[in-house]
Amino acid sequence: MAWYPNAKRMEVQPEGNAQPAIRPTQMIFHSLAAPWTGRRTYEYWRDSTNLESHFYVEFGGDAFQYIGTQTRADANMYANKRGDGTGAVSVETASNLKHTDAWTSSQIAALIKLGAWMHKTHGVPLRICRSHSDPGFGTHRMFSQWSPGGTACPGDARQRQFRELVFPGIVKAAGGKPPKPSPKLAPFPGAEFFKSSPRSPLITAMGRRLVAEGCGRYAEGPGPQWSDADRRSYAAWQRKRGFSGADADGWPGRKTWDALRVPAV
Ligand SMILES: [Zn+2]
Repeated sequence: MAWYPNAKRMEVQPEGNAQPAIRPTQMIFHSLAAPWTGRRTYEYWRDSTNLESHFYVEFGGDAFQYIGTQTRADANMYANKRGDGTGAVSVETASNLKHTDAWTSSQIAALIKLGAWMHKTHGVPLRICRSHSDPGFGTHRMFSQWSPGGTACPGDARQRQFRELVFPGIVKAAGGKPPKPSPKLAPFPGAEFFKSSPRSPLITAMGRRLVAEGCGRYAEGPGPQWSDADRRSYAAWQRKRGFSGADADGWPGRKTWDALRVPAV
């Protein structure tokens, strides 16, 4: 049963004793959508919901641990405990009510330290999870298997910070090699491009990103030929980004394209 020495231990019961053991292979970061203290969050997990996380980091960087890292916590749906006994360790963080704010520098420092400890203690590999079950580090929004119905958690600003600051910081603090720079992104090719029924590797790359975001509506593929399945998938992405009606008609626009971060081909 591992407890992080730099966190204040406030064990949530009966979950701490009642929930099954896991072998932790992932660390998943979240935003709480509440600006609470660690104690308030503890009381919330204890009294109000069963979706507790292992850890919490306040705006000032103080860390709290509620569940031992080799016991299941319940914040990440199918990643909590898989059939092979592996599971994710979840880290909630204080945020504004809509989790649109960036992590404070104190939070970033605390997350880096915690992530490096996770690598040293449990051997979580120094990479960003490549699939929902792949060992490594991630954020809640990365895979649909990690949230019922999809989620924007931890928010756009923090998603950027995770890739640019937190994850590279963990690698550095753990003594690993810096990760490869993030891939060059494909600029929006213009609305007309898609209406010309294009056949292009860019459509395959877009489809892969839609699948990764939990928006894939493909019976097979994705492939290079623009199709109705691409349009349905893209419409699901537009809805996930909060658009509706004519703004979620499946024809790509600049805003949702930029948010999708399609790698250049
Ligand atoms: Zn979350």
